[in-house]
Amino acid sequence: MTRLALRHGAVNLAQGFPDFAAPRVVKEAAKRAIDDDHNQYTITWGTPALRQAIAAYYGRRYRMDVDPEREVTVCCGATEAMIASLLATVNPGEEVIVFEPYYENYGPDTWLCGAERRLVRLRADAGWSFDPAELRRAFNSRTKAIIVTNPHNPTGKVFTREELELIAELCQEHDTLAITDEIYEHILYGGARHIPLASLDGMRERTITVNSMSKTFSVTGWRVGWIVAAPDLTDSIRKVHDFLTVNSPAPMQQAAVMALGLDDAFFTDLAGHYLARRDTLFASLEAAGFAPFEPRGAYYIMADVRRFGFPDDMAFARDLMERGGVACVPGSSFFEDPRDGAHLVRFCFCKKMETLEEAGRRLRAYAVGG
Ligand code: PLP
Repeated sequence: MTRLALRHGAVNLAQGFPDFAAPRVVKEAAKRAIDDDHNQYTITWGTPALRQAIAAYYGRRYRMDVDPEREVTVCCGATEAMIASLLATVNPGEEVIVFEPYYENYGPDTWLCGAERRLVRLRADAGWSFDPAELRRAFNSRTKAIIVTNPHNPTGKVFTREELELIAELCQEHDTLAITDEIYEHILYGGARHIPLASLDGMRERTITVNSMSKTFSVTGWRVGWIVAAPDLTDSIRKVHDFLTVNSPAPMQQAAVMALGLDDAFFTDLAGHYLARRDTLFASLEAAGFAPFEPRGAYYIMADVRRFGFPDDMAFARDLMERGGVACVPGSSFFEDPRDGAHLVRFCFCKKMETLEEAGRRLRAYAVGG
């Protein structure tokens, strides 16, 4: 969609990357790191300084006790963190539970492990909640792991404590790992609070926490992510990581040390910054006749497009791009069976206000013209 958006001069609300500047202090730290010659391979699982900063961050924010020597692996973004974690822990033929709709990468990630995906539906008409009985049925003797994306892309769902407790209970009952992707942890609205799955009773030893600089510091191109997991899991994950990428870029790791130590205000302001953008895009979508679902976290809005009368989401997304000049992601990308997402599209709002206002003008004109 990004390539097509460029070709059509469309406002790109498809791929989730910011079009505004990254924070100056973070950029300065990276420039300094290059000048200070942090330019060679690092220890494969991350510089000691960054692993200590990650451990301190979890201690400060969530009172989690993390050992930087044995429980932290720095990777090339959450993307590598997820595939390295799965390759290290899941054997061919084992099952991985995934909530659907799901972030597209989990498809290839699980295929590459030879794992089978067992899907549990998040129901749009019920605030993207899931049926506890369906989740319970998904666990069986072949279940190796469950992937929990919280806050969730593409729906904007934030799992409640009750939902997380049920996941935790089932993981313990079935001796299953939880791999949790928490890269939108600070992007929350309407009083939602982030609860790391690893902080729940009995979960610290069986949770692999994946996180990254990409979204929190608006540096999706830097490729610094990390994994926090118990020593035995970390040991396996580090072996896979070493042969996938060796190390995350050295100067960026150095900048991450500074970034993770920023004042609390930085992290709180991030949510405020995105709240105004969410409300702007949401209002534009409603005004243009979409039926959007209000997200409680992350920076995407899913919208129902049935009202426009297209045969499916692909046809609609193409028309919106070509005639409306706005790019979105067809909803079927997030479902195993494309028919399940054929009435949905996803827009992102990690953009400058001007970009979102221009998108709003185009969406309204499209609705009138269409
Ligand atoms: N996980 C989720 C849920 C995402 O939405 C994204 C990017 O959109 C990623 C991971 C990729 O993260 P990274 O840039 O750290 O690889």
